[in-house]
Amino acid sequence: MVLIWQPFSKTFSELVLLFALFLHVLPLGEGKKQLPRSAGASETVETYDKYYNYVDLTNRLQSLAQSYSHIASLSSIGRSVEGRELWVMRINVEPDKDTPGKPKFKYVGNMHGDETVSRQVLVYLVEYLLTKYGEEARITELVNSTDIYIMPSMNPDGFESSKEGDCNGDYGGRNNANNLDLNRSFPDQFDGTTVKPDDIPEVMAVIKWIKEQKFVLSGNLHGGTVVASYPFDDSVSHQRQGHYSQSEDDNLFRYLALVYSHNHPVMKTGQPNCPDTPEETFKDGITNGARWYDVPGGMQDYNYLYGNCLEITMELSCCKHPPASELQKEWDLNRESLLAYMEKVHMGVRGFVKDAVSGAALSNVSIVVAGIRHNLTTAKFGDYYRLLLPGTYNITAVATGASASTCFLARDRYMFAADDKTIGWSLQPSLHSKQPVWRIDSSACGTQRQAQSKPHPV
Ligand SMILES: [Zn+2]
Repeated sequence: MVLIWQPFSKTFSELVLLFALFLHVLPLGEGKKQLPRSAGASETVETYDKYYNYVDLTNRLQSLAQSYSHIASLSSIGRSVEGRELWVMRINVEPDKDTPGKPKFKYVGNMHGDETVSRQVLVYLVEYLLTKYGEEARITELVNSTDIYIMPSMNPDGFESSKEGDCNGDYGGRNNANNLDLNRSFPDQFDGTTVKPDDIPEVMAVIKWIKEQKFVLSGNLHGGTVVASYPFDDSVSHQRQGHYSQSEDDNLFRYLALVYSHNHPVMKTGQPNCPDTPEETFKDGITNGARWYDVPGGMQDYNYLYGNCLEITMELSCCKHPPASELQKEWDLNRESLLAYMEKVHMGVRGFVKDAVSGAALSNVSIVVAGIRHNLTTAKFGDYYRLLLPGTYNITAVATGASASTCFLARDRYMFAADDKTIGWSLQPSLHSKQPVWRIDSSACGTQRQAQSKPHPV
């Protein structure tokens, strides 16, 4: 589990408050506005009817980054076993800079090299965001307010050995070039890990990336059926199927999975009708991962437990590597879901934790929501983003002082109300009008669980 609580003493009342916690919510779209820039003359028009092999993918991403350099930057977070770059397109109005107050979102595709729809739709998503910025208000607002990272392929070696038209992975390509399943190779909450780091450079690169960036929300895109699956992916008993392994944010995860499912015309039916598993259905198009089947060492649980990030897994198509003629249809089916899910990075509460004397940002301060035994921590600007469903919460910021036995704490109570507009949820302070004043409550210091209002069930 992630660090939940720091030990502290009862000497809190003797301590001087060293930081204040400032909390605010930026409505989507309040970010910096920039004028659109048209694509360069060399930019090719997307045809949605062919797969990009590694060379094509590299060229396409480089071309897009060049043409839209005002909002995009391409980098590699590492290399695969066979030396292919793990490309990530960052989309942000200041693409080479970290800006305080912007939540980081990521999509990762093609982790299983033979599950190829995700790889393509993520390239299409990159192009869509870049070309619509400055033209469509919704996309402009999303890009202005979000630090977006898109990795079309986490397993480029596997893709190269996969065959178009192979629906079941019969011709290989699922695993990396050392024949290891990347979605079974992350440290597991129950089992740890036994995989040698040198054998899974793709996983090690992603772990480092997750630790460095402190993403807030993420999607892990796969194929083989049509469903959105949420943590946990396994249980202590590793019962093969049917065991609901519930996380502390179960209601929130269910909601996030429903956002993807309900915007996908096939997924929302819960009846993918896959030829190999015609009887397999998913209520509302979502499932708890472990209830579906036990997956030790999966990436989504790692993100949640060790990465400060909420991630769910989307299965996009029955056929893992369908003919390229299906790609346009798959893009049309997933586009709205991909966008709506990204927008959810703005739900909940956010703010900064700073030293009240020096004003310096305080990182790694725990943000504690009463009733949810899963704390997030502040990032390098002292910023935090706590996704929450509508409800009333007691929220506390806890930092350890110079020694492990001290505790600094600020807390307040906030009520969330649903926003009936298309995008997101709005936050309405229940106790304060504008700038909330944080107060010290020494009696709460040392109490993990406090009086609470349960979030609304989805
Ligand atoms: Zn997969």
